[in-house]
Amino acid sequence: MDVKLIAGLEIHVQLATKSKLFCGCKVGFEDPPNSNVCPVCLGLPGVLPLMNKKAYEYAVRTALALNCQMARFTKWDRKSYYYPDLPKNYQISQYDLPLSHDGYMEIPLEDGTTKKVRIIRAHLEEDAGKNLHEGLDHSRIDLNRTGTPLLEIVTEPDLNSPVECRILAQELQKLVQFLGVSEANMQKGHMRFEPNINLQIIDDDGREYRTPICEVKNLNSFRALERAVAYEEWRQLEEWKHDHDFTLEKMGKQNRGWNDARNETIFQREKEEAHDYRYFPEPDLVPVELDDDWLEKIKAALCELPLAMKQRFIQDYELNDYDAGVLTADRATAEFFDGAVKAGGSAKRAANLVTQFGLKTAHERNCRVNELGVTVEQVAQLAQLVEEGAVSSSAAITIFEKMLTDESDPKAIAEKHNLIQQSDAGALEAIVDEVIAANLQAAEEVKSGGKKAKKARGFLMGQVMQKTKGQANPKIAGELLDGKLKE
Ligand code: ZN
Ligand code: MN
Repeated sequence: MDVKLIAGLEIHVQLATKSKLFCGCKVGFEDPPNSNVCPVCLGLPGVLPLMNKKAYEYAVRTALALNCQMARFTKWDRKSYYYPDLPKNYQISQYDLPLSHDGYMEIPLEDGTTKKVRIIRAHLEEDAGKNLHEGLDHSRIDLNRTGTPLLEIVTEPDLNSPVECRILAQELQKLVQFLGVSEANMQKGHMRFEPNINLQIIDDDGREYRTPICEVKNLNSFRALERAVAYEEWRQLEEWKHDHDFTLEKMGKQNRGWNDARNETIFQREKEEAHDYRYFPEPDLVPVELDDDWLEKIKAALCELPLAMKQRFIQDYELNDYDAGVLTADRATAEFFDGAVKAGGSAKRAANLVTQFGLKTAHERNCRVNELGVTVEQVAQLAQLVEEGAVSSSAAITIFEKMLTDESDPKAIAEKHNLIQQSDAGALEAIVDEVIAANLQAAEEVKSGGKKAKKARGFLMGQVMQKTKGQANPKIAGELLDGKLKE
């Protein structure tokens, strides 16, 4: 028997505009309930929506980064449904003419290869409000979120494992953050995932079965996404083993919810088809025609994308996969590190400085690495001091720490605090000779190569470090010592 998981993802990303998609209300959910509302987003009769151009620009920017074909002519449609948090009883969305279609996204897999996942479409639509069920014996409705711009991205069912689904979601988060179109803050619910999953099963006789496509609604964390897909993978196989009529042809599609506490999906309803929504063109909004010049301008301003940047760091800077991943987790860090290398710093040393001290400190201060008050030139110079052996790696961390409050160049800081390593072989040689002369027994133990040799060598190195107040370059001192003891 051969079982293959087939999954596609529908993702909603909240765009980081100041105001809503069709009115001037502020986007801000932390404000008191129902304070950021107006007749348009409250859905009062007779009002006219007006499109937010910034939201459209952000959507175009993302669609371009997803290698999509851009529609030159696109329109808005009403998607009808009745729900307390949707006062108009329809959502303004895009149906048959989405602003973009037929793209792809490259995702890195755990084995080091990448995979191309096709994008069916990406379109703009407005969000609904929020039902609040906690605390009271009745539900309350907060319409602050109503009308917030969402980018809906739909992939082809090209994903074949729960991990691939999670990776795509995380890469997309990184992408929209790099592009500056969304904060994509999971805690704030800026990204929501709806995987659709089924199995292709080929039994021992070569017969092929397809289990019903199940869409799991409204997942708001990467963990829930991965677990929900894994659960469906297991459940659908069990159901099919129990009953071979558990197929797409016989059972159709269905919507399921995710119960995080119980770690399982629950049947909600048969899946609705497009005709259930009674889509029709929105008569109150003019179609959007995309201007070539404007499109070119957005294209020209696109930044280097996170995966491309990561691969460049690995290829050009010879970083390992892990460090390159950490350094491209956000754009500010990636550009800061890149800037330090371009300013002449050794890539490996700069990567160590940024990952070992910069990111930790930025995290403690709740800021980005580029906001620590240290310039890329300073980091480049410090990286070079380490590279040349003028300061040790641990002294470099101390210097980095001092740079947070001291604007002098790293070399001046190192000198001021006596952190320059003694690399002058001539001066070190005299000290090594002195140490050997004063500790002849230890020197003999090293020379004899017996059990005590390693410990004795450590002792002698310790003496050298002590005499130089810890400033001897350990590599050079060690070489000198070994050379002398071989004589
Ligand atoms: Zn409004
Ligand atoms: Mn949607």
